[in-house]
Amino acid sequence: MERLLFVASEAYPLIKTGGLADVAGSLPEVLRQQGMDVRLLLPAYQHVLEAIGPPALVAHMEVEGMQLRILSTYLPGTKLETWLLEHPLFSHRPGNPYHDPQGNPWPDNADRFALLSRVAAAIATGQAGLDWRPDVLHCNDWHTGPAIALTHLSERRPRTVFTVHSLAHMGLFDRATFDRLGLPAHFWSDSALEFYNQCSFIKGGLVYADYITTVSPTYALEICDSPGGMGLEGLLRQRRERLVGILNGIDSQVWNPATDPFLEQRYTPQSLQDKALNKAALQATLGLAPAADRPLVGLVGRLVEQKGLELILPVLGEILASGVQLVVLGTGEHRYERQLQAAAAAHPDAMAVALAYDESLAHRIEAAADIFLMPSLFEPCGLNQLYSLRYGTLPLVRAVGGLADTVVDSNPQTLADGTATGFVFERPDPAELLATLQRAVALWYDQRQWRQVQLAAMAQDFSWQRRANRYMQLYTAPV
Ligand code: ADP
Repeated sequence: MERLLFVASEAYPLIKTGGLADVAGSLPEVLRQQGMDVRLLLPAYQHVLEAIGPPALVAHMEVEGMQLRILSTYLPGTKLETWLLEHPLFSHRPGNPYHDPQGNPWPDNADRFALLSRVAAAIATGQAGLDWRPDVLHCNDWHTGPAIALTHLSERRPRTVFTVHSLAHMGLFDRATFDRLGLPAHFWSDSALEFYNQCSFIKGGLVYADYITTVSPTYALEICDSPGGMGLEGLLRQRRERLVGILNGIDSQVWNPATDPFLEQRYTPQSLQDKALNKAALQATLGLAPAADRPLVGLVGRLVEQKGLELILPVLGEILASGVQLVVLGTGEHRYERQLQAAAAAHPDAMAVALAYDESLAHRIEAAADIFLMPSLFEPCGLNQLYSLRYGTLPLVRAVGGLADTVVDSNPQTLADGTATGFVFERPDPAELLATLQRAVALWYDQRQWRQVQLAAMAQDFSWQRRANRYMQLYTAPV
């Protein structure tokens, strides 16, 4: 049985800040179900230790003079053995894994994720004193880039795969930090971790991994060019042969309108009329006018530039004037939070904003809304538009990255051939967003056609079961 060590900085439901957690919380379990012997390695954040029952002890380790423990638990709701790296750098740190309550990165993030990387590399190369050693090391995002680089120092090493969930976060640290970490001196080179006179953790994965994957085919193309490559396009072009775009799947148990425990009323394609009960319930909860005859637009996500806030805010007045109601759930940059809150205060019947991270509300918005707004400037894969499709909530997206790969615009041809699943626009221009929303609203008033597009959306299969075998092929592909 092939052994896989899957390493990430977050995994749902133990710890989640974004899409990475959704992937790390579902792909390894599906790979296990398909016959692999899998261990998921995560930091034992304080919050994680508080959330689980007493873990078992796997090993004591010493890394660079630091004493730590590997604990074992199961990812809740699965049979996936999950190893937790316990050290005060993680376990004595409440709150967000990456930043303080003011939103500033923890000052010792380099030390924290270098430690995660060193431990992953030690396990991968059989230097952790364990009797389990992987055939494949699969790392994710900048937090684990050095693990790949360190593993490649060893003669007896496993196959390595590195997945880029977003190139926007590169794990950049200055020279003094690099020196303090005590990584091999030759890593300070343009052909290793150095990036314009800084140390970039993500380069460890991009330079050394046997295979690089990213989370959609279109994003794989975009990052080989400017501006998507964010300065790494040259390196990624060089490694083109080893770069593969594999679209993310979704956890089809957690995100299923037929069984979703958070919903006022569950529904299926056959009982789609019941979706309206969720809309009425959400309108009541959030204090919106109880209007069944107005389309409800939902937005869930980080309130940051990437998610297209600069496209929405200039036309927010026109959006509300077009007769829709708008619900926003998210946290992010204060200037966006303030503008959204001010707009909601001025239009309490039509707009509600929840500045929170709220799993239950995210599900209820997916079920209640008619249209899901996701006009990202860039989007490696995007999960919310996939959840929206499954919930018959038609996504309105910009044609970038995974959004371009997963949503089919409603136009006369796609409506006629039954392939339309949402609304897509090209240019990052608020006027285009507004025109596309107006198109969506017009279609909403044609309930017969709307229903047909909803059914096409709900029939899409984005389950991991269909995609996990792409990873299994890479785990055994020639290197
Ligand atoms: P990203 O990883 O760039 O943040 P994705 O669309 O890939 O974006 O994944 C975001 C995930 O985080 C989704 O599961 C989404 O529902 C969830 N999410 C984001 N913001 C919130 C929030 N404020 N409350 C609840 N869930 C949220």
